[in-house]
Amino acid sequence: MVDISSDKSKIPALVDALDRKLTYLRISLTDKCNFRCFYCYGSAQEIERTAKLSLMSSTEIVDLIKVFGSLGVNKVRLTGGEPLLNPSVVDIVRNISEIPGIKQIGLTTNGFLLKEKLSELIKAGLNRLNVSLDSLEREKFCEVTGVDGLPQVLEGLRAARDSGAFQRVKVNTVVMRGVNDSEVGNLAKWSLENGFELRFIEYMPTRNTLNHAKKHISEADIRSKIDLELQPDIGNLTSAGPARTYKVDGYPGRIGFISALSQKFCESCNRLRLKADGRLVGCLFRDNSVDLISMLRSGMSLDDLAYFVRNLVAKPEFKDEADFTESGFRPEMKTIGG
Ligand code: SAM
Ligand code: SF4
Repeated sequence: MVDISSDKSKIPALVDALDRKLTYLRISLTDKCNFRCFYCYGSAQEIERTAKLSLMSSTEIVDLIKVFGSLGVNKVRLTGGEPLLNPSVVDIVRNISEIPGIKQIGLTTNGFLLKEKLSELIKAGLNRLNVSLDSLEREKFCEVTGVDGLPQVLEGLRAARDSGAFQRVKVNTVVMRGVNDSEVGNLAKWSLENGFELRFIEYMPTRNTLNHAKKHISEADIRSKIDLELQPDIGNLTSAGPARTYKVDGYPGRIGFISALSQKFCESCNRLRLKADGRLVGCLFRDNSVDLISMLRSGMSLDDLAYFVRNLVAKPEFKDEADFTESGFRPEMKTIGG
């Protein structure tokens, strides 16, 4: 049994069947969203179905993070749906910051409510920030998200950068052929000049991506759209893992790539995901989630849950490598959180 209150050095880490050490947990704080991104949000029937899901309370979220903290997880990321719609988001961040062992607390947001919540979040202990932004053109932004929100998102981004609370504010851009691929060059230049770290994300086949094959564009093609003088040089690679980011001489910002299709990164995957309905997910592209929240609600102690989780993740049927071009399973991003 793992004692939640015991000395961390004695606690066995979470290791999966492929010998990967799992130190990173993403938690979806809600499946609700104030945007309607066409590739994510889903049909009216789906929205009705997810509206019936029973979501985790903020106390339950923090209790489950304590379980993972006791097992060596040191990085958590709050996502959604739109995590800033959870009315307890600031309290959740504050309570996580008091959990021993959790060093990084990140947020992935669409940025619409960022400016108004930023200082409270920083005070509560938020220290990593990713903002999703698929277009710098106001009309296109509105077409993609269903909301005329570009000026507000840019204000939030600038406020976050100028706060000095984050080593780097990251920007996530999903690149889609015929939608925003013509903006790749502009987005790269904007990020480099304005001190952001923008990562171009290959479009993945998820539950609501219609015509995925037509819209998908590979990293090589994305790179070819960046001006020659701004081309990332392999010698300036600043990170390993899913996101490979580069400095470009003479600019404060960075650009990078997250290419789940053309540069599969399963071998370095160190993450688990907790869905908004309290199910634990081992792999984004496998339909094998486990209902952790019901165990907590049935009165299981946090120690017993930790013991259960450690054994669960070691099973190959829970956490192995999924070839999502073949697996056929399409995750619903707003419940899982990306
Ligand atoms: N609402 C927040 C946001 O948009 O940042 C957090 C949740 S959203 C599901 C997390 C990330 O998943 C966003 O950056 C979004 O662009 C990305 N995403 C959603 N569907 C995707 C897909 N099919 N392929 C690649 N990224 C996707
Ligand atoms: Fe909402 Fe994020 Fe999905 Fe867009 S990508 S609909 S902002 S959850």
